[in-house]
Amino acid sequence: MRSVRVPYQVIDNKLAIRQLSWPRGCACCGQESPPSSLSVSAMVRGKSSTSEVGMYRTTYTSGYPVSWDVPMCQRCALHDETAKSSPPVGVLGIVGVAAALGVGYGLYSMDLAYNEVAIVGYALFLAILGSGLYEFFAWSIRRHKSKAVAMMGPTCTAVTGAVTPAWDMDFVYLKFTHDLYGSTFAQMNGAA
Ligand SMILES: [Zn+2]
Ligand SMILES: [Zn+2]
Repeated sequence: MRSVRVPYQVIDNKLAIRQLSWPRGCACCGQESPPSSLSVSAMVRGKSSTSEVGMYRTTYTSGYPVSWDVPMCQRCALHDETAKSSPPVGVLGIVGVAAALGVGYGLYSMDLAYNEVAIVGYALFLAILGSGLYEFFAWSIRRHKSKAVAMMGPTCTAVTGAVTPAWDMDFVYLKFTHDLYGSTFAQMNGAA
């Protein structure tokens, strides 16, 4: 892991950061390859703040977005995307709610809404439905991850996040999993 810091300033509410040069080759495996890239972005000085006016509560997120096109070979861009892709949470949620409401309405329409056995059965059904959806979600994440790992090459340094940004009030820190790539980047940009 090689961390490189790049100074920045905020002038007139605008982020001022120098144009960065990126070494040729892939930030994950280091190999020279047909050019492809992965977008890495950060919200510098990003903060959430909450304000309350009467009964209304509003959350603001402030900060300065910055992003870079990091050179990465096609294989590595693909395993990175695959590792990050997540299961369709929204669809699962809708299926879960629809099933819960559907069965609930079924019991109600059969006049079983106050039947103790039906209530216990319904609670059990909800518990099984919930844990089933959760298991499916967890399994789906594991499957994406192992699929991504299987796509990695022998010199790959990270299944995802070969370049990860962080920041403080004066610097943006770019963390490189490929040490040599990170060192070359630091040299090219006169950064430490
Ligand atoms: Zn690569
Ligand atoms: Zn890779």
